[in-house]
Amino acid sequence: MVIDDSLNKIATDVKICRLCGLFRARTNAVPGEGSSLLKAVLIGEAPGKSEDQQGRPFVGKAGKILDYILQDTGINRSQIFITNVVKCRPPGNRLPTVDEVSACKRYLDREFAYLKPKIIGLLGRTAYSTFIGGKSFSSDRGRILKKNGLTYLITFHPAAAIYNRSLIETLKSDFTRISSEIGL
Ligand code: URA
Ligand code: SF4
Repeated sequence: MVIDDSLNKIATDVKICRLCGLFRARTNAVPGEGSSLLKAVLIGEAPGKSEDQQGRPFVGKAGKILDYILQDTGINRSQIFITNVVKCRPPGNRLPTVDEVSACKRYLDREFAYLKPKIIGLLGRTAYSTFIGGKSFSSDRGRILKKNGLTYLITFHPAAAIYNRSLIETLKSDFTRISSEIGL
């Protein structure tokens, strides 16, 4: 595993990456963004349309919800690190394939090796299945799980709250578990 790595170097590599077919349809690759200050990482699924256009994670509708939840739980977005399972937008927002996830996983591994996160928030089923596996998303949602030396909080993807506003309260209460893990 690469350990002597900086976030800027990882982002530069992501922007020119052609390791899976998703590079063909992208406008911009979307590297993870933020800082190592709070040692907390949030992982979504994949860039959507706005993210592909701007080259930044969670800047569209789901990003607005995420910002609201972070603000409500007192977590400063610029002090955590926000990233995705795959860094390029799957055409039409389809789910990323197993091969795409496995090609792109090297960047998450490098991000983790550099950041040494205390807590990793898995936002939704794609992030959950990538790191935890199995089919128990619903029963694991809201739990903190440890696996291979890393600590994960399982929660919904903020996009799920676009059409089901009641999930916002659940997301808020799950995110307070992140703030307590990092001592806020
Ligand atoms: N949804 C995601 O999973 N990631 C983003 O960056 C934006 C929307
Ligand atoms: Fe590379 Fe990941 Fe983009 Fe595929 S999705 S081209 S592996 S950065």
